[in-house]
Amino acid sequence: MKLDHVGIAVESLGAAVPVFEKLLGRRVDFEEVVEDQKVRVAVFEFGRSRIELLEATSPTSPIARFLAKRGPGMHHLTLSVPNLAEKLRALDESGVRLIDPKPRRGAGNSRIAFLDPTSASGVLIELVEEKRRRPQRRGNPKGRASRG
Ligand code: ZN
Repeated sequence: MKLDHVGIAVESLGAAVPVFEKLLGRRVDFEEVVEDQKVRVAVFEFGRSRIELLEATSPTSPIARFLAKRGPGMHHLTLSVPNLAEKLRALDESGVRLIDPKPRRGAGNSRIAFLDPTSASGVLIELVEEKRRRPQRRGNPKGRASRG
């Protein structure tokens, strides 16, 4: 199990990204929208771990509800596991309360599941399945385009 990322709820990426860029002394790596969770995510990578700033894209987003209740701040932390379905079964059997009893789809086509904060000292914990490394690197789209 490894620390994959920490998710921070923010009112606005437009305001929060420059603050974190200044704080971390570097530019944000990328942004993406995760439709399933109704969030826009700005990602700062640190080797195999990341900080994610999360902005709601809808008033029904879990991030919008979190902001309304608690204001901006740390929203969840994410641990990676080799086999998510197996881990969820084992946690369930040991009495840990699960929000997602089965893996669902997260950012970057990953498989994720959330545990109930009441089982983790009030902290929302997300589990993500480790991706298997591709045997070959994907071609660079720019390189491919320049060919023809
Ligand atoms: Zn996350």
